[in-house]
Amino acid sequence: MEKEDKKGVDIEKELTYKKRNFFEASDEKKIGKAYEYGEDYKKFLDASKTEREAVATSVKYAEKNGFKPYVFGEKLKAGDKKYYNNRDKSLVLFVVGSENISEGGIRLIASHIDSPRLDLKQNPLYEDGGMAFFKTHYYGGVKKYQWTAIPLALHGAVVLSDGRKIDVKIGDEDGDPVFYVNDLLPHLSREQYQKTLAQAIDGETLNVLCGGLPFKDDDVKDKVKLTVLKKLNEKYGMKEEDFLSAELCAVPAFNARDIGFDGALIAGYGHDDKVCSYPALTAICGLDKPVHTAMVVLADKEEIGSEGNTGMQCGVYEDIIDEICETLGAKPSVVRMNSKCLSADVTAGFDPNFASVYEKKNASIISCGTTICKYTGSGGKGGSNDASAEFIGFIRKLFAEKDIVWQTSELGKVDAGGGGTVAKFVAKLNIDTVDLGVPVISMHAPYEVISKGDLYSTFEACAAFLG
Ligand code: MN
Ligand code: MN
Repeated sequence: MEKEDKKGVDIEKELTYKKRNFFEASDEKKIGKAYEYGEDYKKFLDASKTEREAVATSVKYAEKNGFKPYVFGEKLKAGDKKYYNNRDKSLVLFVVGSENISEGGIRLIASHIDSPRLDLKQNPLYEDGGMAFFKTHYYGGVKKYQWTAIPLALHGAVVLSDGRKIDVKIGDEDGDPVFYVNDLLPHLSREQYQKTLAQAIDGETLNVLCGGLPFKDDDVKDKVKLTVLKKLNEKYGMKEEDFLSAELCAVPAFNARDIGFDGALIAGYGHDDKVCSYPALTAICGLDKPVHTAMVVLADKEEIGSEGNTGMQCGVYEDIIDEICETLGAKPSVVRMNSKCLSADVTAGFDPNFASVYEKKNASIISCGTTICKYTGSGGKGGSNDASAEFIGFIRKLFAEKDIVWQTSELGKVDAGGGGTVAKFVAKLNIDTVDLGVPVISMHAPYEVISKGDLYSTFEACAAFLG
């Protein structure tokens, strides 16, 4: 028998798996880079509160990095950097690689740029009790009580009767007014306190306060409303009827800031999913003459099921893949079969304040790196993509080679709830797909929290995958 001279602790180190914390596993230089990257990300986030704004900021960033608009049918060659702006609400970027696309396929990262918010209804404006309000219809999975009594900004677009499109953005700059959803004072909340959290704030009470000055004319019926209309007319040339062809959103007015004393964490509106879109965008923009053909999709409408012609279920993304294949003389079905996709979306970071809904061994821990979710869904993995061991094995090897700090996670305890991403819509195209992204604390709240370590390792993961 051979002599065993290894100590138990050495064998333990060799055989057992332990998550790594990004800040513990990285040297000062890398941590410095992560902090710097976080500063640029905060600027991107503040400028991209709606999908329209995210498209505009991303196009600007892409053009600065040599990307040109793509026209359907145009001839492509290796090294070409193109973007396709889909109706100002979703964006596709791609770089043609040097290898044979039939063999190498496409390296795709799909993320989304829409975030939960309050949308104005088509007939929003009314007055009551000396105040003017906008009626709203919430967009995405919001906890309604979180949207009361906080400063809101108004963002969006209005198409006027003559067809002109006006961009609206008011509430974010110093000196701008903000908007507001009223809440009930505690003194009169005895009945409200008896309701469940889900019922305490009714959807029809999420009315946005937008004025309080009566128009000075006793013959006018709704005086406060008229003052608001007059101001809107002066500022934007709008009449009340123009709301019918408008997309106006109430979004949190506050900007992204570091949380706490050490700068490790960032609070912001819309981390879900700009915290993955930004790494995908910066990774593809950093490519120079790549081997693989790389593509990034920044999709709209994920928060309402990826529907519509700007959501991930729209055929435009497949059409672009088909067009690329055609101009390069490749068969789309073969290219898709050999393609690989990271569905880049956030996951629920373990929160010790609500530990009971997490299974800690399989939860993502803040700052332990970018997170792979083999499956999402609910109940018995219902509605989930459930990536293969082979594909995760491929990703794992890639990340090990680049020393990327990463972890795996489930959304929460087995039967605690659930959720989905765009992964299954990409996988449907016969593309190997897995979810990867940043753990978020207070997901879908007006102010969410992430770690700069997780943000940066997600960027590293995207860059390694595309490059
Ligand atoms: Mn998401
Ligand atoms: Mn979401």
